[in-house]
Amino acid sequence: MAMNGLIGYTGFVGQNLDGPQYEFRFNSKNSGELAGKSFDLLVCAGVPGHKTLANQFPEQDWQTISELMEHLSQVQCQKLVLISTIDVIPDGAERDEDVELLEDKMFPYALHRIKMEKFVRQRFPDAAIVRLPGIFGKGLRKNFIFDLVFKIPRMFSDQEFLELKSLRPVLLLNTHLHPDHIFGNNFMKEVYGLSTKAAREDDFLVDGAVEVASMLGIKGIAQPPAVGEFLQGGDTVRFGQSEMVVIAVGGHSPGGLCFYSERDKLLLSGDVLFAGSIGRSDLPGGNGKDLIEGIRKKLFVLPEEVKVIPGHGPVTTIGEEKRHNPFFI
Ligand SMILES: [Zn+2]
Repeated sequence: MAMNGLIGYTGFVGQNLDGPQYEFRFNSKNSGELAGKSFDLLVCAGVPGHKTLANQFPEQDWQTISELMEHLSQVQCQKLVLISTIDVIPDGAERDEDVELLEDKMFPYALHRIKMEKFVRQRFPDAAIVRLPGIFGKGLRKNFIFDLVFKIPRMFSDQEFLELKSLRPVLLLNTHLHPDHIFGNNFMKEVYGLSTKAAREDDFLVDGAVEVASMLGIKGIAQPPAVGEFLQGGDTVRFGQSEMVVIAVGGHSPGGLCFYSERDKLLLSGDVLFAGSIGRSDLPGGNGKDLIEGIRKKLFVLPEEVKVIPGHGPVTTIGEEKRHNPFFI
């Protein structure tokens, strides 16, 4: 009876290779059992594929590969197949199997894998080495591309994005113009031709948005478009059969706006009022006293049952916040 083994059966490549042809399966948990075994065919897909991790923590990567070599040096097999990577081949136009491999120019990921290839060739002269390209895909923690062009606001899930796509927005409002609230505005402009309505007092924040975002560690973001129309407290915004009254509450940002629908008993509170908290007031133009006073005088006068939808975190009500928000009790 043929004795076939698969190393790395729980990894992405290993899972795809696995099948009834293998009597023995190994991963890092039981690779110690390899020692002393003899196989007809042994496929090794056990070299980790996480390129970023390998380059970031090269010692750990080398440790894993060394252990694998150690185990392989204690097995016998007729035929060994090693799954390797095309990353051992240098970048360039002539990227084929004949190109010279330059170990001194390799990142740890490639260097460790070429060493593995060499070990295998020496230990199993008849081995086949298969070099796979980088693999990308959903649920694959590898070579992650982060928000390729920032067309889709990064806070949307796929599901939310699909829902949004099926709707036809007619109005774009900004409660305020902090970077995390306006990077979707490019998308809204490009796809729906909408420009935002917001307070003039916050306008200065648009120009600095990219810089402030990069200070917060958010890089590669396109400059958001200019405000299309300025709103102020007391204005009414109308769309379809709905209307919302603009309530200006500064303090988180100088031009903070809340939008209130009396008919729907609904308040969009931006970063002014949160469930159990209030917005921070330490950003440019912020003022804690204004914020607390504004909430008290302009929001807590609304009916208790009004539903509050904040810019971050869970939904609450005016009554709930009046009674339990630690900033007001
Ligand atoms: Zn904010």
